[in-house]
Amino acid sequence: MTDPNCLFCKICAGEIPSQKVYEDEHMLAFRDINPQAPVHVLVVPKSHFATLAEMNEEQAELVKECLVRIPHIAASLGLASGYRLIVNQGKDAGQTVFHLHIHLLGGKPLGETIV
Ligand code: 5GP
Ligand code: ZN
Repeated sequence: MTDPNCLFCKICAGEIPSQKVYEDEHMLAFRDINPQAPVHVLVVPKSHFATLAEMNEEQAELVKECLVRIPHIAASLGLASGYRLIVNQGKDAGQTVFHLHIHLLGGKPLGETIV
């Protein structure tokens, strides 16, 4: 499933360039354009859905694939001392791109605020 008007669908399709750090048939991981930490990568299932509330069973499998892959991506980025995952859901969380994505943040001690 893709949405022709979705920024992350366009990035997954290669229509908009990105700094890729990992790609396979199910997911793409690329550097955030406005990094909030020394390492800030977005891990995106290639199927389009906006939030967990709209996720079907097949897409849940893709999210699982992302979660299984993330430790390997983190290791490849040198995040041996830890990292944080954030998945914004909706307006109050500050979600701006309505294609589910997992923020992978690290590269420095992240502090104890916002979990
Ligand atoms: P959200 O706020 O929806 O959880 O996260 C969206 C993220 O996408 C933001 O951190 C923002 O910096 C990033 N972003 C927005 N547009 C682009 C883009 O064109 N390229 C890349 N690499 N990241 C983007
Ligand atoms: Zn999309």
